[in-house]
Amino acid sequence: MFKFKKMLSLAAACVLGAALLTGCGGQEGASSSSGAKTLKVGSSIDFAPFEFQDETQKEYQGFDMDLIRAIGKEMGREVEIQNLGFDGLIPALQGGNIDVAISGMTINEDRKANVLFSEPYYESGLTIIVRDNNADIKTFQDLKGKKVAVQIGTTSANEVHKLEGVEVKELNTPPDCFMELKASGVDAVVNDKPVNDYYITKSGATGVKALPEKLTAEEYGIAIAKDNKALQDEINAAFKKVKDSGEYDKIYKKWFGEAGK
Ligand code: GLN
Repeated sequence: MFKFKKMLSLAAACVLGAALLTGCGGQEGASSSSGAKTLKVGSSIDFAPFEFQDETQKEYQGFDMDLIRAIGKEMGREVEIQNLGFDGLIPALQGGNIDVAISGMTINEDRKANVLFSEPYYESGLTIIVRDNNADIKTFQDLKGKKVAVQIGTTSANEVHKLEGVEVKELNTPPDCFMELKASGVDAVVNDKPVNDYYITKSGATGVKALPEKLTAEEYGIAIAKDNKALQDEINAAFKKVKDSGEYDKIYKKWFGEAGK
């Protein structure tokens, strides 16, 4: 009888414990079975080599994916990555559905009005891709009178709208933009340089070329809910450790073939 009672109270404690663990996760994420708080990460998995799905592997791949896993490890938190549309990432942070977003997201003033950013982790900028046989687009000014595809909600979309006389087609993902270019639905694509370069050199794209001119200088940051300064500090501290330990350089080399800055 004593044993039975003990078992019962143990079971009750477990149920209560589990309820507490999962119920009190709140903004900074629920607890996992190992007791470590899960870091809920949002990313738009369509941006190789930063985040993409390799059909032969279960886990999402890319520079951002490795970086956030390394940061999570330093924080002692399990990383759980959700695939969301790029334009849904900031709303997901604001709604508390995710703790952080890492998605090749450029730090800019517009976004800073809505979210906090970590220290910058990658230097980027925008370039143009055209079909090989296109001779009349050489610079951004040449986009006047042309049809240009960009990903919705991105800095590319903002910049191309600023250029005069461009017919802008906003699509959901960069791969959609590249397909549209190949199908001659547009004359050019404007998108982040490292993603354009990877598309041309690593994914075996044919019939298209990236132009050398860089329109902007941009830096990527990890986005965090505006009211979560504590998490911003935690992310920055962990990021610093990932840099100091040489892990950041290792990840950079893995994806870009050279040491990071
Ligand atoms: N760097 C660009 C931006 O922040 C594009 C990001 C992306 O498409 N994942 O708008």
